[in-house]
Amino acid sequence: MCYAIPGKITGLDGRVATVDYYGEKRNAYIDLVPDLTIGSYVYAQGGFVVSRISEAAAQDILKDWRELFFKLQETDRRLSNDPKTLYERANAIRQKHQGNSCCIHGILEFSNYCARNCHYCGIRRDNKKLTRYRLDTNEILEAVDYASNKLGFKALVLQSGEDVWYTDDKLHEIVTEIRKRCPVLIFVSIGERDLSTFKRLYDAGARGVLLRFETSDEALYSRLKPDSKLKTRLEMLKALREMGYLIITGFLVGLPKQKGKDILESIKLTAELGAEMFSFGPFIPHPETPLSGAALPSLEQMLKTIARARLTTPDARILVTTALETLDKENGARQGLMAGANSLMINVTPLKYRKLYDIYPNRAGVEDDTNSRIDSVLKLLYLLGRAPTDLGVALETASKTMS
Ligand code: SAH
Repeated sequence: MCYAIPGKITGLDGRVATVDYYGEKRNAYIDLVPDLTIGSYVYAQGGFVVSRISEAAAQDILKDWRELFFKLQETDRRLSNDPKTLYERANAIRQKHQGNSCCIHGILEFSNYCARNCHYCGIRRDNKKLTRYRLDTNEILEAVDYASNKLGFKALVLQSGEDVWYTDDKLHEIVTEIRKRCPVLIFVSIGERDLSTFKRLYDAGARGVLLRFETSDEALYSRLKPDSKLKTRLEMLKALREMGYLIITGFLVGLPKQKGKDILESIKLTAELGAEMFSFGPFIPHPETPLSGAALPSLEQMLKTIARARLTTPDARILVTTALETLDKENGARQGLMAGANSLMINVTPLKYRKLYDIYPNRAGVEDDTNSRIDSVLKLLYLLGRAPTDLGVALETASKTMS
């Protein structure tokens, strides 16, 4: 199973390698993997080389992939031709600026304990009906090992509620051990912690953070997150980016009393924060929260938000979130990908825990075995001419952001 294809290093300039994929060049940082030279074959994710592989193994994979690689590009070009509607225009812009590569990150939800009490969220502290769970260090390492070494994921998000049971030392050990055993790019999504915690995790080899700012409207933020401030979160996101982290951030669409203007502002703010990936999803009311009676946003509103985000930021990676898939389990992912999105996440949480990560009801994919979910995602991507691979940052974009 392959989520990224190997590339060959054809140039090295300080911390940055040029990696060649069938003639297409991408840039990637090399600091996670020692002793790389020109001619090394590597896997890169999100602009970082995550592992090296032997030339023989790389050649085998590249031979198998070559025909499919170009065929998918052709299908994608054909499907993005002659755009007329808003969605088609967004899709054509995606094709032009980002090509057909589609990131597929795995997500491991390792604890549903949460110290916060956000009004929209089903794992909020005051939801006493929820059975709480935590994966211990060994369970996390086992799940990550399976996702990486058996299923082939090259990028994984480790997500939890805000749970200080995972001390800095524990988190540090988890990230260190993963880097030792698994060729993956690690994103952490653990809410707000001290910057010193994130610094330790960066030094241990984590390179990404997923942290949404939820809404750009300060008053709405304070109402929905009674114990926190938008300003603190934004400052944290900026500091994390300065630390060198890739940032995945975004917002909720359809919150009660959210203004249309907030969605446009939130798209802008995501871009200003330098997000490597946009993550925004529909707000889905949870029965055990103060917002239980609220209305759901429509699929159309979500697709429009994706399309607008694409039109304003042509180079973005835009995620089809699980929440969007939950709005329309049959067609949500396909429609999102055809309205400007180009990334997906697959849940790799052990099935026995998955249902308990109950941020909102009826989440798509909670019942599915990960293997069958991978199969259906790949089928969809091939149908749309998308390559289930992350080819790193396009050379031009990379030279802009890396200079
Ligand atoms: N503790 C982490 C992870 C929180 S849960 C953090 O603070 O970043 C991950 C995301 O789920 C949240 O950022 C929020 O945007 C989303 N979420 C929570 N409740 C939701 C709901 N009812 N509908 C849709 N998304 C929700």
